[in-house]
Amino acid sequence: MTCTGTLVNIHRAVPRRVARLEIESCAMRSLRLLLPAAALLAATVALVSVTHGQARTPVTLIVTGGTVITQDAARRVIPDGAVAIDHDLIVAVDTSEAIGAKYDGAEVIDARDQVIMPGLINTHGHAAMVLYRGLGSDLALMDWLNKYIFPAEQKTVSPDFVRIGTRLAALEMIESGTTTFTDMYYFEGDVAEATRESGLRAVLGESVIKFPVADAATPEEGLARAEAFIQQWKGDPLVTPAVAPHAPYTLEPATLKAVRALANKYDVPMLIHLAETQD
Ligand SMILES: [Zn+2]
Repeated sequence: MTCTGTLVNIHRAVPRRVARLEIESCAMRSLRLLLPAAALLAATVALVSVTHGQARTPVTLIVTGGTVITQDAARRVIPDGAVAIDHDLIVAVDTSEAIGAKYDGAEVIDARDQVIMPGLINTHGHAAMVLYRGLGSDLALMDWLNKYIFPAEQKTVSPDFVRIGTRLAALEMIESGTTTFTDMYYFEGDVAEATRESGLRAVLGESVIKFPVADAATPEEGLARAEAFIQQWKGDPLVTPAVAPHAPYTLEPATLKAVRALANKYDVPMLIHLAETQD
């Protein structure tokens, strides 16, 4: 580009014909230089528009700007990280810059000063019992069960009780970062419906126990309910049906064997109370 300035000086100093030749010569030289530069510029413009425009992959959600705590093989922690999510699938985890360059989120959540991590998993619970919170909670296990919880359940457990209690528990679990929970209770179909509404993932077991309870007069009835529950929910994307024998001390050995056979028949998990407190 300094050629132009030089040309002006030549034009003043030399006869017109020579100057014109010099001008043509310089112009051609400039053209030779300019053509690759123009091509490079065009390629750069194209690349920039690809990087910042159409070529970014659309995803439904990007959570960005937080500290990403992965649970991958290297247990990476990414200080300024982001996660790209498309519908129910995590498609990429990387730095905020890298995710922003590759993905275009329909919704973007700014997680600055926050942690982005996999959901917590609650591996034992009876969600609807949140409605008994505080009832005899300072007692030893057997006093708590026999003097308070079992009698209270005889009087109060119903499909509505279970559905309302599970909804409240789901809300509290979501607020605490739990995304998957297990549950063993009664009217487990209502627990499953409430779980589906909440969007949580769960392993849910219909209880089998030796004395009459709200949804079954006998263990055999409990087993039949458990089988119907498994048949209804097997294959659900969020709910994994299970069967829940309450405990070795609330079931006869024959019933425990029948529960094992039921779990084997449908290839579903079993949930049971083992190794509880010695009190
Ligand atoms: Zn329990």
